[in-house]
Amino acid sequence: MLPELPEPPLRLNLDWNALKANWLAMDRLSGKARAGAAVKADGYGLGARKAAAVLRDAGCRDFFVAHWAEAAELLDLVDPASISVLHGPQSPADCAYGQAIGAKPVINSLSQAQRWLDAGGGTCDLMIDTGMNRLGVPMREIGSEVLARLDVDVLLSHLVSSEEDTPLNALQCSRWKEARKAIAHRNASLANSAGITLGSEFHGDITRPGVSLYGGIPRPCLGQLIRQVVRPEAMIMQVRHVAAGETVGYNATFTAKAPMRLGTVSTGYADGYLRCWSNKGFFEANGAKLPVLGLVSMDMTVIDLTDANDIGEGDWVAASYDLPGAAAASGLTQYELLTLLGRRFQR
Ligand SMILES: *Cc1c(COP(=O)(O)O)cnc(C)c1O
Repeated sequence: MLPELPEPPLRLNLDWNALKANWLAMDRLSGKARAGAAVKADGYGLGARKAAAVLRDAGCRDFFVAHWAEAAELLDLVDPASISVLHGPQSPADCAYGQAIGAKPVINSLSQAQRWLDAGGGTCDLMIDTGMNRLGVPMREIGSEVLARLDVDVLLSHLVSSEEDTPLNALQCSRWKEARKAIAHRNASLANSAGITLGSEFHGDITRPGVSLYGGIPRPCLGQLIRQVVRPEAMIMQVRHVAAGETVGYNATFTAKAPMRLGTVSTGYADGYLRCWSNKGFFEANGAKLPVLGLVSMDMTVIDLTDANDIGEGDWVAASYDLPGAAAASGLTQYELLTLLGRRFQR
């Protein structure tokens, strides 16, 4: 028999208490509405199963995923009727699967509505497009007869620019209210994370925070409330010394001006630690900030240990990854910084 597979040299340090605290904060901020949770894209990259279990234990009763496969992953963890599948039923097979597991499809068009009804229907959610022009029933179709035949639990719409102050927010809110008057439903939902901060007009019955649960801060006012959840960490595989004039990494984009002590860290762009961090990112250990030197490679990144003699081979270092700061530094969005974290990280 083979010995157990050794632990990988890279891991996500995940603070599940922070996830819980962030959900409770967004739930409180949602006023009379109850907060659900977007757990699509594997819980924004952190691991949907663990995230859903933590959120469930915190009191969350509404889970939003994009794909049917993402619903399948949660069936033994949460009440299937609490799962909404945002992409809806694109085929009779989707309808049959949704009915069998008891999760709700989000109906996004008249053709999806007809397909769901043809398959025998059942409780569903309904997405109204109030301005995104992506998925959802357009406002001009809200009076359609086929919609009146649906058994709608949550009537939802999605904000285009909730992280910005723009007249579009109020316009979408008023269109959503118009749709609520036109279509029978049990619950209404509009706000994502940033939308929750726009006030009670935007809350309805259920809010749908995503990014802020995982540490994202889409509006500065959330900065005091939201805690960091994820810290990518990796092991230093090798320490080496270079003389002045030597270069580091592919294409020799960094040249040492003086003798330096370097550490080679076991993570790279294949793990989602992208090349945008080349000569720019930092790692941290024991309170020291350790700059990235040269280009990030596929599986490795070199950092400067010259002023950190206490850190060496086998030690773990954490990427500087506070989401608003990392987004500003990298040009990536906070959403991308979360969802691109690769599968080699132990979670
Ligand atoms: C992803 C998503 C959310 C969550 O949005 P955040 O900005 O991450 O809070 C809410 N609603 C819908 C329809 C979504 O697709």
